[in-house]
Amino acid sequence: MQKITVAKGDGIGPEIMDATLGILKAANARVEWEEIQVGEKVYLSGNTSGIDREAWDSIRRNKVFLKAPITTPQGGGYKSLNVTMRKTLGLYANVRPCKSFHPFVRTKHPDMDVVIIRENEEDLYAGIEHQQTDEVVQCLKLITRPGCEKIIRYAFEYARLYNRKRVSCFTKDNIMKLTDGLFHRVFREIAAEYPDIQADNWIIDIGAARLADTPEIFDVVVMPNLYGDVVSDITAQISGSVGLAGTANIGETCAMFEAIHGSAPDIAGKNIANPSGLLRAAVMLLNHIGQQDVAERIRNAWAVTIEEGIHTADIYKEGVSTQLVGTKEFAQAVIARLGQNPKQLSTVEYAREVRLSIPRYQRRQPLNKQLKGVDVFVDWKGTNPNELANKLEKLNSEIKLTLITNRGVKVWPDGFEETFCTDHWRCRFEVENGHPASKHSIPELLGKALNADVDVIKTENLYEFNGEKGYSLGQGQ
Ligand code: NAD
Repeated sequence: MQKITVAKGDGIGPEIMDATLGILKAANARVEWEEIQVGEKVYLSGNTSGIDREAWDSIRRNKVFLKAPITTPQGGGYKSLNVTMRKTLGLYANVRPCKSFHPFVRTKHPDMDVVIIRENEEDLYAGIEHQQTDEVVQCLKLITRPGCEKIIRYAFEYARLYNRKRVSCFTKDNIMKLTDGLFHRVFREIAAEYPDIQADNWIIDIGAARLADTPEIFDVVVMPNLYGDVVSDITAQISGSVGLAGTANIGETCAMFEAIHGSAPDIAGKNIANPSGLLRAAVMLLNHIGQQDVAERIRNAWAVTIEEGIHTADIYKEGVSTQLVGTKEFAQAVIARLGQNPKQLSTVEYAREVRLSIPRYQRRQPLNKQLKGVDVFVDWKGTNPNELANKLEKLNSEIKLTLITNRGVKVWPDGFEETFCTDHWRCRFEVENGHPASKHSIPELLGKALNADVDVIKTENLYEFNGEKGYSLGQGQ
């Protein structure tokens, strides 16, 4: 018996969780559950994180968590429980299988069978945001080598374990050459370790367009957090319904499984919700804890129920469906079909353990890092960048002004009048002779800027790593 933590959540959560647990019990899953409270009640009791100490303890003790959707109250500074959980527990991989169940669930893509693997912890979701001037706010996009290595290795290991042939990578590295560029570079490095699996890279815009149009050409797709958030919902939706998809959030020690939809307050308490998303998440959970025999029995009984046209209202279609059922009746139908195999939909056969183990990240030899200058960001209400350049050149510092950009576009030297400028100026100071800059050059420059009344709002050091520029050029430079 393995103990797992469950939370029944809000809205339709308790109904779909009861249905799911009833099926797990009838299928003789070797699990016991410990229930915790998370979500609306906890938020409204004054806890802005939506989860209390005891609930954390249960999840950390049991390490496996089946979570029903919760309602996040609007306004009031309530933090998203999902984001908190993923980051606090280090759940770095979000895995979302999106398969169509044609002809039983209507879809324009009868042959699609895609697994989206989304990086779950970093990227713009680091949530590091600042207002820097009257007109400009920023959100920091953090992409790390350990983060890339873990998620990309996970994608290849997943593909190997589940007999998938190809892993595709989606990035925007034609624009974000350092951040998305790192993700793409690590993808190439790791792909070389898996010669048995095909690997290809797509620029996210055309990749997402093709995925929405011809999803059957994709197999496993791995991508950074924000792209994955958007693309995985689209992929689930075009497979037939977001109501059918489950998702796994996997970390080195803990894992959380859930449906991808929300708490659907509009239909709560009416016994009409489809429990399939949460049930399929539970099937992923059973695979994760090594009970693939039970996982397979449940998945196949569920597929038989769908094939027989026993459908909840969200997927019910005249001519395809045979019986409109409620949440409880759907669960009973699945239970009655335990032990049966689908006739048209694929059966699942796991001959071996379906537990993934990813080697721990090994930090590499430090690179040779040399300081080459600094980007000084300035709040300046003027409009002619030549005036700002004049002022900054007079600072007479060891590192020299070489460039001013506004929103990334070069406006000095030789800027264009047509370029629209805000009050946020990036002023680049660099060494002249290619030698490293001294560590004192930056505080000295900042001291002089302060004395000259230049409103410095932040700085970014410019480094070369093993002789390669660790910073982007200005657009138009
Ligand atoms: P939702 O997914 O709850 O509902 C969208 C629509 O889909 C609704 O019409 C709903 O009735 C329908 N629907 C959803 N799940 C269904 C199911 N299983 N069976 C049948 N129909 C279903 O999205 P929303 O309305 O934007 O959000 C409602 C609440 O859920 C919000 O408070 C939101 O913050 C929360 N939410 C939670 C999670 C989570 O806990 N993982 C995820 C998304 C949204």
